[in-house]
Parts: sequence; C-alpha cells; structure tokens
Amino acid sequence: MNACPICKNGELEPGTVTVTLERDEAIVLLKKVPAKVCNNCASYFLDSITTRLVLQKAEVSFKNGAELEVLQLQAA
Ligand SMILES: [Zn+2]
Repeated sequence: MNACPICKNGELEPGTVTVTLERDEAIVLLKKVPAKVCNNCASYFLDSITTRLVLQKAEVSFKNGAELEVLQLQAA
C-alpha cells in the first residue's frame, strides 16, 4: 500500500512536481522534480536523494544572488 499520510484517502503515485524554495528575498523554482504525488490531495513527497539534489541546486542559485530562478531538475 502507498496510502497518503496526509489525507489518508489518496494513494501516492509517481509523478513530477514543481518545488518552490525561498530564502530571504530569493525564490528558486525547480520544475520536473520526480516525486510521489497523492491522487487525492496533491501532497507530494520527495525521496532523500531527490531532496538533496533539489537543495544543492537551490543553494547554487542562492549563492549566485538570484532573486528568482526557474530550473529544471534533470531526470536521472
Ligand atoms: Zn493525500
């Protein structure tokens, strides 16, 4: 079973999401991030490897002083 821990009614299915990260005035959007997405409430969950990759990519943008950056996470 892959039941959603948020709504308890949906099931988690593989998909992609857009993750938004904010720090101070900066915003980084990461598109096409692989995640498990609830088919009921649309909550999403990233595995630990993906989370690390997302944070690494965002960190580069923050360090470059980007105010708004839109990135795509490459599919492995
Ligand atoms: Zn759900």
